[in-house]
Amino acid sequence: MSQTLNGNPEANAERRTPRLDVVGGGLAGCEAAWQAAERGVYVTLYEMRPKRQTPAHATDRLAELVCSNSLGSTRPDRAGGLLQAEMRRMGSLILRAAEESAVPAGGALAVDREAFAAGVTERIASHPRITLVRDEVRTVPAGPAVLATGPLTSDALATDLGALLGADYLYFFDALCPIVEADSIDMSLAFRQSRYDRGQQEEGDYINCPLNEEEFAAFHAALIAAERIELRDFEQDGEGQPFFERCLPIEVLGERGAQALAFGPMRPVGLRDPRTGQRPHAVVQLRQDNIAGSLYNLVGFQTNLKWGAQADVLRMIPGLGDAEFVRLGQMHRNTFVNSPSVLTPHLATRVRDDLFLAGQITGIEGYAGNAASGIVAGANAARRLLGQPVSAPPPETMLGALCHYVTHADGKHFQPMKANFGILPPFAPPVRNKRRRYHAYGERGLATLASWLEASSWNPAGMAIDADPAVQPSHPATSPAQAAKHVPTSDSADTADTADTVDSKMGDGPSASDPTEASPSAIAPVAPAQETA
Ligand SMILES: Cc1cc2nc3c(=O)[nH]c(=O)nc-3n(C[C@H](O)[C@H](O)[C@H](O)COP(=O)(O)OP(=O)(O)OC[C@H]3O[C@@H](n4cnc5c(N)ncnc54)[C@H](O)[C@@H]3O)c2cc1C
Repeated sequence: MSQTLNGNPEANAERRTPRLDVVGGGLAGCEAAWQAAERGVYVTLYEMRPKRQTPAHATDRLAELVCSNSLGSTRPDRAGGLLQAEMRRMGSLILRAAEESAVPAGGALAVDREAFAAGVTERIASHPRITLVRDEVRTVPAGPAVLATGPLTSDALATDLGALLGADYLYFFDALCPIVEADSIDMSLAFRQSRYDRGQQEEGDYINCPLNEEEFAAFHAALIAAERIELRDFEQDGEGQPFFERCLPIEVLGERGAQALAFGPMRPVGLRDPRTGQRPHAVVQLRQDNIAGSLYNLVGFQTNLKWGAQADVLRMIPGLGDAEFVRLGQMHRNTFVNSPSVLTPHLATRVRDDLFLAGQITGIEGYAGNAASGIVAGANAARRLLGQPVSAPPPETMLGALCHYVTHADGKHFQPMKANFGILPPFAPPVRNKRRRYHAYGERGLATLASWLEASSWNPAGMAIDADPAVQPSHPATSPAQAAKHVPTSDSADTADTADTVDSKMGDGPSASDPTEASPSAIAPVAPAQETA
């Protein structure tokens, strides 16, 4: 910095205070920069747009939403609503900007995308401790940094990150298999067993859904006829082939013939249905997906079917007729790391404790979850620079559960995950009634967060937000007319069950609204813009 320091208190403070680089001005990077700056650290935030665009972004704004305009359900008894309540209490810039630009969406927090991005850009650009630099960062910064370059991280930086972390730990596309809640699987039709009884658990490591010849034929016909998601140009190579050719979607395999499935992901070898004593004609295997055993993924069932059609086809599988999906299958371009192998629970890299990752690159999915991970990475990067201990919210909170999941999942089969109640620790004894359980998750999450915030001195002065969602007014920036339209109906409350259960990349989880007003002091606009080109 080439400025005269004498007699300028802000410049003198800047000289003495540690500095942090944040790379990527998306949801996670802006949140990380904000959280660090609010803790007194001087931040340089690098965003390569508009100099260099990604294949999906269209503007020069920070925090541009590339697709849906929804940050998910606002209901406190839904995973999305709990996450938003937690973000509010942690002084989230992104949540505040979203609530200020909210549009009526039947109980989901949907935004006017232009107003939202403009609000975030204005607050970042005018923060006295944030310098915004519009340039591509091509190598991992050598000093303290947060990398939040998202699913479309530029090639040069991805290559350098791969060299630092190990190329085997960096991926360039998702091939997500659907995940179901274990207690929605009909175990009178499915059975537990490992192939050739070679599992670790006596009762068998896998849940198997057996299909007879007729069921398999019907499933195969429906699978290949179902509607698919069209790939975008940047998800295909120059010859129109998808990037994920080596990891084929089941519908593409199915198109090559029923046998390709029966000898592939649906092969029944080494399995015997205990009810018939026979080997089934075909089988769908489900593998445990979280330590609690509340989630199971469909092994080898990566797919690009549209979600409505996908759920219909999957529910034809015996045992999955009433399956509740916390995530449906998808395949798309996505740069992300093998977080269980390379990240600590505080989102620092294992190879360098001054280098943090945030956002989609950690394997967290969904706008709100990605922004929230920026709170953890940005605040921890600042705390480390200020000589304070790093920390992360406990796994009983939605944000803590996300950080815990991505850093503790099975690294061999790691796939991205969005906020859902299936990744929270279960209650002991279990709460069987689903509505009561969801409600209890919400209450436990917020109570745990409050104790942790206090015990860890996490929020700096001015950022502690102690709002009770139940008593706060609806979106503060929403006009009275909009607010009137915002009243949830019983229908919308019902559909929220599905919207929050199915992994909605579109993020539209309608539900009862609970938006609250964050402390104005936490996110008040400040001083003049500092932007360098
Ligand atoms: C086509 C597409 C559609 C999507 N639709 C949805 C959806 O509907 N709902 C949903 O929840 N999620 C969706 N996602 C995922 C979505 O990208 C994330 O939820 C969210 O945007 C991730 O936030 P982030 O901050 O990690 O990344 P981003 O929001 O992508 O921000 C990363 C930023 O880093 C910048 N950058 C990249 N490389 C560099 C570099 N080397 N130097 C400087 N800057 C750099 C980029 O320009 C970008 O601004 C979609 C993703 C894609 C690709």
